[in-house]
Amino acid sequence: MSILAWIEDRRKQKLKSGLSQTTSNNSPSADNTQGLWTRCDSCGIILYIKHLKENQRVCFGCGYHLQMNSNERIENLIDSKSWRPLYETLSPCDPLDFKDQKAYPERLKEAQERTGLQDAVQTGTGLIDGIPIALGIMDFHFMGGSMGSVVGEKITRLIEYATKKGLTLIIISASGGARMQEGILSLMQMAKISGALHVHQSCANLLYISVLTSPTTGGVTASFAMLGDLIFAEPKALIGFAGRRVIEQTLQEQLPDNFQTAEYLLHHGLIDLIVPRSFLKQALSETLNFYKAAPFQIYGYIPTKLNFESSD
Ligand SMILES: [Zn+2]
Repeated sequence: MSILAWIEDRRKQKLKSGLSQTTSNNSPSADNTQGLWTRCDSCGIILYIKHLKENQRVCFGCGYHLQMNSNERIENLIDSKSWRPLYETLSPCDPLDFKDQKAYPERLKEAQERTGLQDAVQTGTGLIDGIPIALGIMDFHFMGGSMGSVVGEKITRLIEYATKKGLTLIIISASGGARMQEGILSLMQMAKISGALHVHQSCANLLYISVLTSPTTGGVTASFAMLGDLIFAEPKALIGFAGRRVIEQTLQEQLPDNFQTAEYLLHHGLIDLIVPRSFLKQALSETLNFYKAAPFQIYGYIPTKLNFESSD
């Protein structure tokens, strides 16, 4: 059997088994833990997964940045043995008794078994070149990185922890948006996280760096992903709110080919910098070094506007 036929065969088997939950998860690159070979989503060349992992999942042929899971990101960004996870045990429930083709608890169980995570984000603290930070990493392999109550709660607690301890906050986004299975409870996470960020950034005067990876869309884009003091993105990352087809149908206009790419957003002033994955740690480290002596930082408790003013 040729490699191409083998990949095609595996893809069909996966579709039949119904393990995949979103269209994006059907791509071979999403299956990051099994098999030896995968195909580049951009140029289509066949890649040996072991070598691809060593190259931080950047295609050898065209430089396209394939999706990475949260464990690989921690390994690549955080100094060895310095990662301390926080709020690992928070796990989701099914408040709306939601069922589509499958019941929500069933989807959760499958995603938990496949990824080894409780929900679509990992939070914790660690060192980047010796500088302590609070880090949140969304994982697209868990139900398309969708944001439900647990994702929102973990990110909010992480922000509050960073505010109390005076840590710079870094969140790496990869998400299809709010989780429809939790309805309004997912949507309210947007406001909750934004509120915690306001305290971190504007009351405690601490730094928040948002790193956007492909894809960052929907409610995540419409809240914390775009609220960074500095917003970095990976090359050619898909970043947007509504999908291209929805916008084209609403506006009755043809959109440019590079619409909703990191390059398009940089050109229009929505993000600050495009950083290739191989330079991300260095870029973050240099930025952290630059900001670590920034004045007027207030921490040790969660300041509010009121006690911030009264402390003057
Ligand atoms: Zn490629």
